[in-house]
Amino acid sequence: MTPETSIEYVKGIGPDRAKLIKSVLGLSTVDDLLNFYPIRYLDKSKVFKISQLEESSIEIQLKGRITQVQEVQTGKTKRLSAKFNDDTGTMDLVWFQYSKWLKEQLPINREVYIFGKINVFNRQFSMPHPEIEVEEKKEGENRLKPIYPSSEKLTKRGLNQRFFQVILRNICKEIPNLVEENFPDYLTKAFKFLSRQHTYLNIHFPKDMEHYEKADNRLKFEESFFFQLGYALKKLHHRSHSPGNPFPIVGDHFNDFYNHHIPFDLTGAQKRVLKEIRLDMKRPVQMNRLLQGDVGSGKTMVALLTMLIAMDNGFQSCLMAPTEILAQQHYNGIKELLEATDINVRLLTGSSKTSERKIIHEELENGTLSILVGTHAVLEDKVKFKNLGLAIIDEQHRFGVAQRAKLWAKNKIPPHILVMTATPIPRTLAMSFYSDLDVSVIDEMPVGRKPIITAHRREKDRTYVYNFCRDEIKKGRQVYFVYPLIEESETLDYKNLMEGLDHVMTAFSDYNTTMLHGKMKPAEKDAAMNYFASGKAEIMVATTVIEVGVNVPNASVMVIESSERFGLSQLHQLRGRVGRGAEQSYCILMTSDKLSKESRTRIKTMTETNDGFKISEVDMQLRGPGDILGTQQSGVVDFKRLDLVNDSAIIKTTKNTVDKILEADPHLANPDNVIIKNYYLRYYKGKNKWSKIS
Ligand code: ADP
Ligand code: MG
Repeated sequence: MTPETSIEYVKGIGPDRAKLIKSVLGLSTVDDLLNFYPIRYLDKSKVFKISQLEESSIEIQLKGRITQVQEVQTGKTKRLSAKFNDDTGTMDLVWFQYSKWLKEQLPINREVYIFGKINVFNRQFSMPHPEIEVEEKKEGENRLKPIYPSSEKLTKRGLNQRFFQVILRNICKEIPNLVEENFPDYLTKAFKFLSRQHTYLNIHFPKDMEHYEKADNRLKFEESFFFQLGYALKKLHHRSHSPGNPFPIVGDHFNDFYNHHIPFDLTGAQKRVLKEIRLDMKRPVQMNRLLQGDVGSGKTMVALLTMLIAMDNGFQSCLMAPTEILAQQHYNGIKELLEATDINVRLLTGSSKTSERKIIHEELENGTLSILVGTHAVLEDKVKFKNLGLAIIDEQHRFGVAQRAKLWAKNKIPPHILVMTATPIPRTLAMSFYSDLDVSVIDEMPVGRKPIITAHRREKDRTYVYNFCRDEIKKGRQVYFVYPLIEESETLDYKNLMEGLDHVMTAFSDYNTTMLHGKMKPAEKDAAMNYFASGKAEIMVATTVIEVGVNVPNASVMVIESSERFGLSQLHQLRGRVGRGAEQSYCILMTSDKLSKESRTRIKTMTETNDGFKISEVDMQLRGPGDILGTQQSGVVDFKRLDLVNDSAIIKTTKNTVDKILEADPHLANPDNVIIKNYYLRYYKGKNKWSKIS
């Protein structure tokens, strides 16, 4: 038997069953079966007494005697019923489906072990379809029975738990020929792993819970380890094969701005991140960096300073945003910051006029345009740069791989890439799925920010909420009202928005209200945005278009209507639209009275913390990693055993371990590490799907 042997040749299977197993479970080789893991184990180490049974007893084992077997007819159905006694009481055993054979073979009046789920009806206990064992159990024999994932189709054709237990027993006897080691001794020792062979043995037939846990831990570690190794090797490969333009200089543009025009001191985190970026761009290797930072942590300033470095080295930069509003804001902000300099900045979006485009195209090609801010429009083939050295992408998840590839092609030597995330990503995800990127984290907020106060309010509180808003407006602040807009019921949502607008306008008739939603034309959006940003309107009623990046520091109240309909990261993003100035800001989460458990968790999380990293962790627990990564990449979370939500410790350890190993031995050439390399090449290479931001 080898791992590649077809299961048809395993004792007890044969061609017909092999076909069935393949079609139902997708398993075709011995190796597949070996990696067909039990979903749980029946603990046969404990023997219960009938007197100890409780309603909550689920699957248990009892020892006693079967008496009084009889067939019972009710209506059209027949069942087999028996009494079971131990020295503490009596209960019923029931079979709803049974063969003549079972009826005749039941071991009456002999000492037996029965095993199964307990049913309770009128405080009477019974056990349907018990497993029965007659043999006397020897002390120390393994008592954890594996239960495999199964299906009715298989069970009906005789491929029941007992069948799989026998088959896996047979295969486990061959483990010495089937399972090869993939970790060097030094790792096995350092982490006190079971050997790989013992791991498989204890996954299928654990000696005890402790051995099972060790085996489980090793399989998870392996899975995470080789996955991380793949990413790390790719990163190393990238470093040695992707040339980039070295930016050795920090010159006049940067220094002039930094010394004379920057309106605030950078936070320590901003400085650190900037240093990481600088070191990266100094080398003749393309930078491939993810910039993580909470909403409002000041990623834009880091982006601007990075672009100034590019300029000091004679290169052009572009900054891309996912929406026109956001691009416009970046443009306005940067333009204002650079006002006192002679740096040429322009904005290119889908709605840029032809005459403006013409100038942009020309200036890009002759090199007089240093910074281009824009939307996807920047990617168009017509947009050619003289020497694009740096591309910054805000809110990464909205760009597809193909679009990124276009960006690369904009220069002979591909530009350095800096991607800024909209909201923090859970640490385990960042470590797993962006392992081929370098990650910088801004983990500090600008000083003087007051944490936003978040409250949960219901319809009955509306008057109070409006009065509160009014008080804030009287203090000179501005207010957002946000309504959900979900595509499936767009017309309904639109109606909600319009009603909301009406309502707000009536309630606040003495103030100016403006509105923003996705269906508006760019010029209308601009007008609405400017009306609010300039302070002419005190109130903005909007859909989630304002979710990403909109920056009006004087706005201090964010009222989110039907907030139970928003996801956590969306709520956090929306909340991040206030608290941008020095004033105390507030976020009010309006909900209906009845909330699902999940909605309650979301609302509670929001009222309890402002920390985007914490929120992202809760979000991942609620939605699962696949949804967090987005549909494009959800396929990459198909781990067999590793759980991204609960195994963060393992993921951290494996990442450190991989990094350490590769730092000392980047080619895995050390004799100790050859075992890892060979295993990786044989089983993992080509399996990783890269996150590929660049
Ligand atoms: P985000 O990381 O969400 O993109 P922004 O870059 O929009 O955050 O910054 C949020 C606000 O904080 C902006 O108004 C910006 O000018 C301000 N800001 C950024 N860095 C600092 C700092 N070091 N000190 C004070 N204010 C800052
Ligand atoms: Mg931003």
